[in-house]
Amino acid sequence: MIAIYDTLTRGLKEVPHVENSVNIYCCGPTVYRDAHVGNLRTFLLADLIVRALKLDGRQVKLIQNITDVGHMSEDFTGEDKLLSQAQLEKRDPFEIARKYEERFHQDLARINIFPADAYPRASETIDLMLQTIAQLIASGHAYATELGSVYFDARSVESYGAISGNKLDSLKPGHRFEYSDEGDKRFHADWALWKTAGNRTEMVWDSPWGKGFPGWHIECTAMSLKLLDERIDLHVGGIDLRFPHHENERAQSNSIIGHEAVKMWVHGEHLLFEGRKMSKSAGNVVLVQDLIERGLDPLSLRLSLLENRYRSQMDLTWASLDAANTTLRRWRTNLASWGESMDQIEDSEITGAIAKDLDTPRVLLRLRAIEKDSAISVEVKRAIFLKADLLLGLDLDRAIEDRPLTADQISLLQSRAQARQSKNWSESDRLRDLLASTGVAISDGPDGQSWSWI
Ligand code: AMP
Ligand code: ZN
Repeated sequence: MIAIYDTLTRGLKEVPHVENSVNIYCCGPTVYRDAHVGNLRTFLLADLIVRALKLDGRQVKLIQNITDVGHMSEDFTGEDKLLSQAQLEKRDPFEIARKYEERFHQDLARINIFPADAYPRASETIDLMLQTIAQLIASGHAYATELGSVYFDARSVESYGAISGNKLDSLKPGHRFEYSDEGDKRFHADWALWKTAGNRTEMVWDSPWGKGFPGWHIECTAMSLKLLDERIDLHVGGIDLRFPHHENERAQSNSIIGHEAVKMWVHGEHLLFEGRKMSKSAGNVVLVQDLIERGLDPLSLRLSLLENRYRSQMDLTWASLDAANTTLRRWRTNLASWGESMDQIEDSEITGAIAKDLDTPRVLLRLRAIEKDSAISVEVKRAIFLKADLLLGLDLDRAIEDRPLTADQISLLQSRAQARQSKNWSESDRLRDLLASTGVAISDGPDGQSWSWI
């Protein structure tokens, strides 16, 4: 039995199932840019839950949407993120969407996140969204305006605000989550399900209310209800999505099916990088590709993230990534030296830690204790690590290459050590990249640099 913290009831709850099967929906990426390591922390949370449930004997179905239209930027320009990026890159918005979608899948694979069962795209789900909107109008939860937009009537749902605590009477007009183009709604907290095209000519569709495009929140309602047969056992997303996205989604979905559509809401806390929120303007957005270019194994990101509990805010640093890279290398070397058997042994402390709100830091502490414990045979150590790796996804039985360095690589390594000694950081970074391009990864520790094959 896996218990996880449910945001709605504010307590630990066993993950619900029906005849052993669990339906999960995870809000996916808005594909106008690469996913950064923060986004990946949230996607890894869904993967961890899937792995934990499968190891617990459940069948799991996971749906993750691809938002390629309708997600407006939260700054006051209120533009569609896809269209802004298309303008910037001077390319067709659909081309942009497919490019970043492909890179999203590549990044997931690089950090061993299992693919979802389906990745529905918003732009290909328009008909379903139109049907859902029509249903909401028919049941009195939404209204169309003269300008050709459709809004959800927030006051039609009594329990609005239950996930985030943002009750309607505390949502003052002019709230920062309001979009500037929502001029003709009746109440400030209402939100657009369908927006009139206005001057917009790209990414617009015909609808019974005129040409326009869907709002972001209706996408997740339409897809989750349809693809999971109106039964969402668990819904995952980053903490920022609690409000307004999940609050609005809950109001819509509950209004459609007449009861609580999502049985459990799970939110992952945010990731900071080197102590700061990642943002383009601060120039500290980190991608999986950046790790690779620094010669780090992408799975060092996975291990670093697992070192922290999903419900705590976490500060990722290059030092912690370097340390994780070293740990991975040590564990893989150990496992290779501990024999070749593929037997697996379940450790009750590890199983217990995961069952109680996904306590991955405790799992890793336990593995470190087992690693050091001379009373445990190497065969048993290997079997416990192999079993734990089904959950952790760190490729711990991957062979470490033992081929020697070439003379050129040795000389580059020596030059880099010298550059660091003379504090010539730009040169040392340049040499690190050069070595990475020859397949050699560098980690910097208190005793100087160490290297490994990528
Ligand atoms: P987006 O592509 O911006 O729609 O975000 C995709 C997912 O990443 C959502 O579940 C967000 O809540 C989540 N997310 C965004 N920023 C961070 C962050 N810094 N740390 C963790 N999750 C994040
Ligand atoms: Zn969503």
